[in-house]
Order: sequence, then C-alpha cells, then structure tokens
Amino acid sequence: LNTTASPYVADLAETVRRRSPAEAVFHQAVDEVLSNLEPALVRHPEYVEARILDRLVEPERQIMFRVPWVDDAGIVQVNRGYRVEFNSALGPFKGGLRFHPTVDLGVIRFLGFEQIFKNALTGQGIGAGKGGSDFNPAGRSDAEVMRFCQSFITELHRHLGEHTDIPAGDIGVGVRELGYMFGQYKRIVNRFEAGVLTGKGIGWAGSHTRTEATGYGAVYFLRDMLATRSRTLEGRRAVVSGSGNVAIYAIEKAQMLGATVIACSDSGGYILDEAGIDVALLKQVKEVQRARLSAYTAERPSAKYVAGGSVFDLPCDVALPCATQNELGEQHAAELIRNGVQAVAEGANMPCTAGAVALFRDAGVLFGPGKAANAGGVATSALEMQQNAARASWSRGETEARLESIMRHIHDHVRATAATYTGDPDNYVAGASIGGFIRVADAMLAQG
Ligand code: GLU
Repeated sequence: LNTTASPYVADLAETVRRRSPAEAVFHQAVDEVLSNLEPALVRHPEYVEARILDRLVEPERQIMFRVPWVDDAGIVQVNRGYRVEFNSALGPFKGGLRFHPTVDLGVIRFLGFEQIFKNALTGQGIGAGKGGSDFNPAGRSDAEVMRFCQSFITELHRHLGEHTDIPAGDIGVGVRELGYMFGQYKRIVNRFEAGVLTGKGIGWAGSHTRTEATGYGAVYFLRDMLATRSRTLEGRRAVVSGSGNVAIYAIEKAQMLGATVIACSDSGGYILDEAGIDVALLKQVKEVQRARLSAYTAERPSAKYVAGGSVFDLPCDVALPCATQNELGEQHAAELIRNGVQAVAEGANMPCTAGAVALFRDAGVLFGPGKAANAGGVATSALEMQQNAARASWSRGETEARLESIMRHIHDHVRATAATYTGDPDNYVAGASIGGFIRVADAMLAQG
C-alpha cells in the first residue's frame, strides 16, 4: 500500500478500470472524486490505512434482473432491470430509478457513486443506491407503463424496504411510475409501507415540495453562490437545458427570484422565448400532454423552436444544465465563458464534462457540481421518509423552508470544506467531494 496519496489513487483508478472496462461514465465519476480527495487523504492517513477508498468504489451489492411485460399488441417485451446498492454507512440505500434506453450497468454505477457523496452532504442519514432499466417510456401507453412498472417491482421488491433500500424517481420515473410501483409493492407485501418509496403523490403519503425540490434546490444553490460575490438572480438572463422535472422547477424558481429564463430544451432542440419561459404552459405541454417541447410554440407565437443546437450557445449570465450526463462539453463551456457567464449550477447528474469544469474554473466562473447543487431532491426524499415514519404530513411552507435551509447548509459546508482543504472557498468541486467523503469515511471507519 502506498503511503502517499497520489500513487495509491492512481492504482485504484486502474483497478476500477480493470474490473469494469466498459463503464466510461463510471470511470469518469470515480476519477473526478479521486482527483479531488488528495488533501483529505494527506490529513487523514487512517482512511488510507483502512482502505476506505478501495471499499468506496465497490458497491455493497449489485442486482440485475429480467423485466418481462406484455405490450398493447399482446407481444412479450423483455427489458433489463438494475439496482446498485452502493453504500449504507450513513443510512439505508437511497437513490432514484432511471428508465431510459441509454441505461446500462455503467450508467447506474456512475449515478450510484455520485449518490454516496450527494446524500452524505445532505446530512440526512441516507445511504446511496441507484437503479433503473433500459425500458423506453417514449410513445408507450399508460397501460404499458403500468405493466412494465409492475413487473419491474415484482422482482425488485424483495430487495427493498423502508430500512433497507428506498428508491425514488429520476429520468423517466415520476409520480405516475412511482404510483404503479408502490401499488404493486403493497399488493405483494400486504403492508402500506409508506417509507419504501419516495416521490409519492401528496394524497398517498408523499411530501409537499418533493416534485419541485431538485430544481428549486439547484436555484437556491446558484443564488447562494452568486451571493458570495454580492450578486443576485434579479434581472439575470438564464438558460436551462432539459424540460423534465428538474428543468421545469429550476425555471420556475429562477423566475420567482427575478431571473428571466430565455431557453430550455429536449433531445430534439430548444425553445427560445426572450420574454421568459411561460412555466404554466411548459407544465401543460410536458406534464399534462406529455408532448414534445416543440408543442410549446404552437401556444406561444413569440417563442421559437430551434431544432438541433444547444441552449449553451446563447448569451446568458447563468446556466443550469438540467438534462443529462455529459451534455455540456468544452465547446459549450468556451462559448458560455466567451458570452460572459457568471455562474453554472448542475441540476442534472454530471452534465458537465471534466474538460468543461476545468475551463469554468480557469475562467473564474462559479461552478456548483451536481453532488451539491442537485442534492435538494434526495434531501426532500429524506424529509418524506421522516414524515412517513411519523405518519405526519407537513405543510408546503414547512417542507420548502427545510429544503431552503438544507441547501444553504450544503452550500456553506462545501465552501468551508474547500477553504480548509484547498485554501480556495470557490473550489466547490473539491469541497463537495471531500465534504461528502469525510462523512461517509468516518462512518465506515466507526462501523468496521
Ligand atoms: N434521482 C434523484 C437524484 O439524482 C433523487 C433521488 C431520491 O430522491 O432518492 O438525486
């Protein structure tokens, strides 16, 4: 075992690659964390001695399973399901489910790994996991989605429990899918075990503000970053990528705080609405009609739909990437910097490539990594678990105030950690990785 951190870390990165050669996004997520931990390993040789990092990069358990279901034409379809139970040092495994055709084991492992540090930063006593399937919900009827969800949870249910593993949503999984899964779980176990899933509907043991939490939280984080330079969101031009659950509520909160969000996107292109996105219309298109984003312009002639292209090519003061991993590369970062962007907060998980992050840092752009900036979703899931355990239902005001305060704590803790370990409070990337790591590492050491 190397006693200095760097060769040890390099060896470990190599081991991770040897064990799972085809998992590029997982390697990317691991490298990003490992490359920032050195100051923590130097100060805490006990972590190196106990091989905490070796343990951290290896999930406690991985589950892969068959998901057979019958489509509307009566044909049997087969998908693959995943649940990676990454770390339970701080609490039961916790993290969302992603249903998207790009899902494979490497994607779920990258997301599960990120969840370790994110969940630790919330301070809420939740471990880390992630799951999903390569099922593509696009174009599927409601009945097909229901049958898929029922089959998925029929297999996964044996691994879940309010003290064991608690899924929630992610891309392709919202309150509709969670409802079908919760119903099937309840049928199988014959118990209304509310705390087994989060993101439930308000009328059936869900929490206020959970739907809005990831997007709202990312904007609170952005606001707190700007405040360190005595700036506010008032009057800022903002772009948001994506138009799903995270993007919609990031747009809503950014505009509530005085910004004008001029663009958002889907996989086909983006809408440009200089007057500011009409959030009620956006919700109607995406949440009610479940239509493509281009449908927005039919109702709002002042907006235009641009097929292809990227919202990050538009001049703006602040940017919130809220779509998916690696959507914002070096070219986009360079363009944003050229256009004078002041701050970027990641609403999605790892939307910025390592090269893009480095460019933002060199240019002095405030950059909030997803582990910290998008932690509001899972933090509010933890609030939902608290309410479920107490059979309580808190008001919207209560949950929103708690979310805001949790995000403030995360922001301040990340900055303080960055200052202590790197001497630079603006190094949110290092602060988030080190801050999350230390909480998990101490618990792992204590638990043997
Ligand atoms: N999928 C969300 C995330 O990336 C939320 C997870 C949860 O609420 O458990 O953090």
